[in-house]
Amino acid sequence: MTDWDDIAKRLADFGVVERDRKLATLTSFGVGGDARIVIEPFDKNSLADCIRIIWDENLPYYVIGKGTNLLVSDNGFDGIIVKIDGGIDKIEHLDGSLWHWESGASLKSAIEKCIESGFGGIEQLAGIPGSVGGATVMNASAYGVSFFDKVKSVEILSRENGIQKFSSNELEPTYRGIEIADGSIVISVDIALDRVSPELAREEIAKYLSLRAENQPIDKKSAGCIFKNPEGLYAGKLIEDAGLKGFKINDAMVSPVHSNFIVNNGKASATDIMKLIEIIRKKVFEKFSVELELEVKTLGFEL
Ligand SMILES: Cc1cc2nc3c(=O)[nH]c(=O)nc-3n(C[C@H](O)[C@H](O)[C@H](O)COP(=O)(O)OP(=O)(O)OC[C@H]3O[C@@H](n4cnc5c(N)ncnc54)[C@H](O)[C@@H]3O)c2cc1C
Repeated sequence: MTDWDDIAKRLADFGVVERDRKLATLTSFGVGGDARIVIEPFDKNSLADCIRIIWDENLPYYVIGKGTNLLVSDNGFDGIIVKIDGGIDKIEHLDGSLWHWESGASLKSAIEKCIESGFGGIEQLAGIPGSVGGATVMNASAYGVSFFDKVKSVEILSRENGIQKFSSNELEPTYRGIEIADGSIVISVDIALDRVSPELAREEIAKYLSLRAENQPIDKKSAGCIFKNPEGLYAGKLIEDAGLKGFKINDAMVSPVHSNFIVNNGKASATDIMKLIEIIRKKVFEKFSVELELEVKTLGFEL
């Protein structure tokens, strides 16, 4: 049997460690039970040291950024959450148009910092509430722009290969994903930005943020879009046309503002959200013969 207290003690040399942390507090959905351990590594070297212990002991672990695309079960996660956050959040100008962004930085702060120096071109993405690492793994996109439109290479830590740099092409970015082995950790990206006027770029950000405020329930707990858009279709439109706008199970509700968002009205459980997901899938399939695929990542469920 795993001695979690002992593991927590050993990991504490490499980051801020908490035992039995409620994952509802680390996800934008505000649901999810406890993880045995949450560690937020101090820096890139500490991350390598702590993950080495986890690998050597063959312990279950899951990497998270800001937890804005994640649905964690009410039973939580019987393992270690490695949270990539402050400490691994440097934003540096390399040369020419090239910048180095560490994965724990928030996407918004990275974009804003580069704009201060007159570099930009992905203002459309500034309203995405996740981390650089999350944007990389998800190939986050908004308003016709994808993160990998600008990312040139990605530094990844894996058990098999240690730290390796991959060109964007090698990672085969697609709609909401890249080719990355399970358990790998994105450490940083090198990203080529355009020369922009800081003033105009800030105006662009403000424009896209106000569009979001109009069209998304940003004042509610959610994980963004629940389903991927099927080829040539919009998941939100299918859900609305299936008559599910505003439909709820306890405090989990199909948002009346954007039908591809499920919002937690306060006391929803992960089970409520999962039941709602199943109903949406069933109704949309019955009506349109379309199978909706989850965009949000799930953790701790038996699927
Ligand atoms: C209100 C709202 C609006 C949103 N709008 C958009 C939008 O317009 N476009 C869009 O694409 N998304 C959107 N999202 C979803 C979400 O913000 C993005 O997918 C974001 O990129 C996730 O980043 P994160 O740090 O929160 O990742 P997390 O939720 O923490 O993790 C998501 C996945 O990435 C993995 N991961 C995270 N960091 C790392 C790392 N360093 N190394 C390896 N794996 C990692 C996790 O294991 C998990 O599988 C929205 C979400 C909300 C709540």
